[in-house]
Amino acid sequence: MKYDDNNIFAKILRGEVPCDKIYEDEYVLSFYDVSPQRKIHALVIPKGQYIDLDDFNENASKEEIHGLMKGISTVTKKLNISSKNGKGYRAISNIGENGGQEVPHLHFHLIGGENVGKMVQK
Ligand code: 5GP
Repeated sequence: MKYDDNNIFAKILRGEVPCDKIYEDEYVLSFYDVSPQRKIHALVIPKGQYIDLDDFNENASKEEIHGLMKGISTVTKKLNISSKNGKGYRAISNIGENGGQEVPHLHFHLIGGENVGKMVQK
């Protein structure tokens, strides 16, 4: 599958669609999910054009992989939800059809600010 340049996160990265920004650096952009599932619901996306985690792990550079992981940690500290300065959170990345992925640009959901409940609903 080819990366779709017109997906909503690509538009946010290009500044064509606004977002409620939390953090940005060379490798990642983080912003609040437009439809929060819990008290805190942030998204962290790589700046590179990767469809999903599989695409990223196969094709991203070591620096990009490191940058995304570091970016997630930075955002959880900024939001006071990390295990060090908060009560923890859930990181989710939906992948493909069975994973329920809607936006075809890799993203991690960081969900917290309260107990987020069971991992998967039946
Ligand atoms: P997925 O189902 O692909 O894992 O998650 C996509 C997420 O993107 C959803 O939680 C949805 O609410 C969020 N989303 C979709 N469009 C926008 C948008 O325009 N702005 C923001 N901030 N979030 C969006």
